[in-house]
Amino acid sequence: MAQLSIQGLCKRFGPVEVLRDVNLEIADREFVCFLGPSGCGKSTLLRCIAGLEEVQGGELRLDGRRINELPPAERDLAMVFQSYALYPHMSVRKNLAFGLSLRGRPKGEIEARILEAARMLQLEDLLERKPRQLSGGQRQRVAIGRAIVRQPRIFLFDEPLSNLDAALRENTRMELARLHQKLQATMIYVTHDQVEAMTLADKVVVLNQGRIAQVGRPLELYHAPADLFVAGFIGSPR
Ligand code: ADP
Ligand code: MG
Repeated sequence: MAQLSIQGLCKRFGPVEVLRDVNLEIADREFVCFLGPSGCGKSTLLRCIAGLEEVQGGELRLDGRRINELPPAERDLAMVFQSYALYPHMSVRKNLAFGLSLRGRPKGEIEARILEAARMLQLEDLLERKPRQLSGGQRQRVAIGRAIVRQPRIFLFDEPLSNLDAALRENTRMELARLHQKLQATMIYVTHDQVEAMTLADKVVVLNQGRIAQVGRPLELYHAPADLFVAGFIGSPR
């Protein structure tokens, strides 16, 4: 059984149809990229999976159970936003702790998880700083750390690297690939960048105007694009 299953998903904002009949299965521990041009519905699809959007049709299931009927604590998803969304008045340590202390975790466990995430992301020396005292790359690592401390089974990333400069982007991309190996979690990753999708993903979902144009392994899309849109977007030879 798929860990995450989406059937016939439709989403409208007012009269505007943003997602149309989306069907998708995602397996445990898979790295899946949603790829497509700006405005095609990637973030909306991710937000539907996170339970942040009301949907007008279709079903989303996690381990066979409808997502919107699960209490938030059992959804086991953690989202990392493009804009970092850190709390500006809190230290890095407090930013990392926030999601956990809200859930009433014991203090020792919170400390241990913070230190582990800080070690993984090289944030150990920055724990007492405020977000404004960090570079863009460091802020993004804190945002990723805040998801890691929650130990979710599914990570949701919305263009996490798009505010970083090219060198840092490549660096962080490789770090994410390593984290995926290490954490053994499912990762769903939104990007408009073909290179990111092709290098990170086990499976790429190409979106075009709210519909899935193709789902496949990176090389499948490259060698056998389903249509001209996919061929053009992937830059494949067809
Ligand atoms: P992407 O992430 O692929 O760039 P989005 O999912 O953000 O695309 O947006 C898909 C479409 O839905 C766009 O046309 C966008 O303008 C529209 N949209 C997104 N969020 C809202 C909203 N909250 N209200 C109205 N329209 C929205
Ligand atoms: Mg988006």
